[in-house]
Amino acid sequence: MTRDDLTRRQFIAAASAGSLAAVTTSDLPAYGNVTRKASKLALLGGDPVRKNKSWPQWPHWDEEVIDSLMKTAKSRIWCRIQSATGTVPTFEKEYAKLMGARFCVLTGSGTQALHTCVEALGIGPGDEVITSPYTDPGTTASILSARALPVLADLDPESYQLDPDDVERRINKNTKAIMPVHMMGQPADMDRIMALAKKHNLKVIEDACQAHLAEHRGRKLGTIGDLGCFSFQSSKTIACGEGGGIIGNDEALMDQCYTVHNHGTSRRGRTEVIGPKYRMNEFEGAVLLGQLSGVKERFARRNENAAYLTYRLKDIPALTPQKLYDGTDSGSFYLYAMSYHEEQFDGIDRATFLKALSAEGVGLSPYIKQGLHREPWIDNILDSKVYKKMYSRKRLREYKDQLACPNCDKVCSEMAMLWASGPLLAGREDMVEVADAIEKVYENRDALRKA
Ligand SMILES: *Cc1c(COP(=O)(O)O)cnc(C)c1O
Repeated sequence: MTRDDLTRRQFIAAASAGSLAAVTTSDLPAYGNVTRKASKLALLGGDPVRKNKSWPQWPHWDEEVIDSLMKTAKSRIWCRIQSATGTVPTFEKEYAKLMGARFCVLTGSGTQALHTCVEALGIGPGDEVITSPYTDPGTTASILSARALPVLADLDPESYQLDPDDVERRINKNTKAIMPVHMMGQPADMDRIMALAKKHNLKVIEDACQAHLAEHRGRKLGTIGDLGCFSFQSSKTIACGEGGGIIGNDEALMDQCYTVHNHGTSRRGRTEVIGPKYRMNEFEGAVLLGQLSGVKERFARRNENAAYLTYRLKDIPALTPQKLYDGTDSGSFYLYAMSYHEEQFDGIDRATFLKALSAEGVGLSPYIKQGLHREPWIDNILDSKVYKKMYSRKRLREYKDQLACPNCDKVCSEMAMLWASGPLLAGREDMVEVADAIEKVYENRDALRKA
């Protein structure tokens, strides 16, 4: 039996065992494709591992998506408030069911979903929310839009997720919530984050914008904290261009989310609170509904492919796949992320490795260039009238003094990731090529250094 004969069941079993990194298949022979190892790097004029092949295209569309869009166009129900059975209210019900949540409110983006939650929880000027510097700018934008202060805690450098110890160090009397980000679609350290929230009486808004359908201890991400947010932006694993959603089980709180996202106007038709207008339109809902049928299959395919890559990478110490926490049943695998260890690659830097790999026909990306703690918003916002009015001079000075997130800097400098919406939906033979290409470059690192 060869490595390629590993059954689908083995990988799923490995994936659900809690740690993909722990795929131990001792009955399988170690990889040893001598011809490939001996062959010349494509960067140096050799034959590439992967030639003239494309990846599955993303975002996904098929006749079902087109039919759904056409039906919406012809119905003239283009706005959710025109009908209780339009695409948006229908997808809200379907998504809640899929995620095992009682309620769902769709919005125009993941950022809008997060901002709606911040407002619905009554978090505003003077308040602080602890989140990650290693994320989409939408995460912090949602806190800033409420004129609250995003406090950035450092990462666990092996999982790229919030480090609960650093979160705890940054809690003060103005802290109202933690916003963990399930980075790459895999669960953050939710056992410890929920324990912290309980101990300090804080709300938890899960930024699950990359984490559709992923599970931690039998619960879908987004249903563990008080509220969970998703993005349906083009690149995400369920996509409609721009879109977002909130899920939750607390009826009053979810009603408040609806009111906030509907310019402060409740389902009762009364205008009650401050709120932007963040309603999803029916065309976006139509795309989401049309895309729903293949969602579970694509999720399984990504998990299976990720498990295979992790299994193959265990023999290459220079690349470590993202660490998954105990209790991880499955990940969304929005991205398949790895840490590149230059010293174990005999000093070959990441850029050279990526170039050599790309010549073999496999593109990995360094992803986020630097953490949000290094972006110019910090100075611009802290010097603004409203922040100077709402936060003491002492707090703002301390905030700037405590911005360092060395683990985040390390993650940014080591990251090498494969886009999952697309490549991770490819077949097993494509994953074999990804792993073979990585292995070939690693085995030939000596030639690369001399080049
Ligand atoms: C995409 C994303 C967001 C923002 O979602 P949008 O739909 O683009 O507004 C927020 N957080 C994370 C982790 C994301 O990946």
